[in-house]
Amino acid sequence: MAMLDGRTAVVTGGAQGIGLAIARTLIDNGARVVIGDIDQAAVDKAVVELGGADAARGATCDVRRAADIEALLDLAQSDGAALDVMVNNAGITRDATMRRMSEDEFDAVIEVNLKGVWLGTRAAAARMREAGRGSIVNISSLSGKVGMAGQTNYSAAKAGVVGLTKAAAKELAHLGVRVNAVQPGLIRTPMTEAMPQKAWDQKMSEIPMGRPGEPHEVAGVVAFLACDWSSYLTGTVHEVTGGRFM
Ligand code: NAD
Repeated sequence: MAMLDGRTAVVTGGAQGIGLAIARTLIDNGARVVIGDIDQAAVDKAVVELGGADAARGATCDVRRAADIEALLDLAQSDGAALDVMVNNAGITRDATMRRMSEDEFDAVIEVNLKGVWLGTRAAAARMREAGRGSIVNISSLSGKVGMAGQTNYSAAKAGVVGLTKAAAKELAHLGVRVNAVQPGLIRTPMTEAMPQKAWDQKMSEIPMGRPGEPHEVAGVVAFLACDWSSYLTGTVHEVTGGRFM
């Protein structure tokens, strides 16, 4: 029997990159998965890639909108299933030094990466507390631990995700709902492939393991946090970084 057999999971930003790998790993371990993403064409493509309607379903969802998140969770529970796992993964970057960063760029990143995670955590928690069980996994970033130049917006949002995760974990622990966070380092995805070569090389030089991470290596940690192998973990933060800034 697989660890997530019979479990229902939702992954935001699940149409590509780390979110898609998380969806795949959860499915490979027995879960039924619903992905939500702002990009509808990418959702349709991802659902096919994930094996179609038996394993995965998807819907357009903008994590900045509470109503979109509720609709996504309704879809996951449309067959009467409990919501077992919520992965708040959707994220964006708008990198610039503070001298150049506009207020719009600051707000955009906070809205998706921090408020979006809060909306997802709040909505999932409301349903999980009814069932008396559930696991919420929030995707932070190593930027939220150390702060990265050119990412005052992103580092603030990702550090905020850690505080949010710990506060929510304390509110929900006695209800059987666990909340944990993952901090990926440099992972090879469309987000990082857009990075200038110089920035990529600088980051690579900081990684003791001497290579970038692959999306499935983040997904494995998320699957661990989603399932009962981590049943006594809540409010924890897991660095998936190849040892960078340990
Ligand atoms: P990505 O850009 O490849 O994928 C992000 C997905 O989120 C896309 O499918 C995008 O359409 C979706 N999305 C964007 N805005 C959205 C919104 N408002 N509502 C719903 N979906 C939205 O990025 P990725 O590298 O796979 O990153 C996934 C998560 O991991 C993000 O939270 C990111 O900050 C975090 N992260 C990534 C890295 C890395 O090296 N790739 C490192 C640390 C943290």
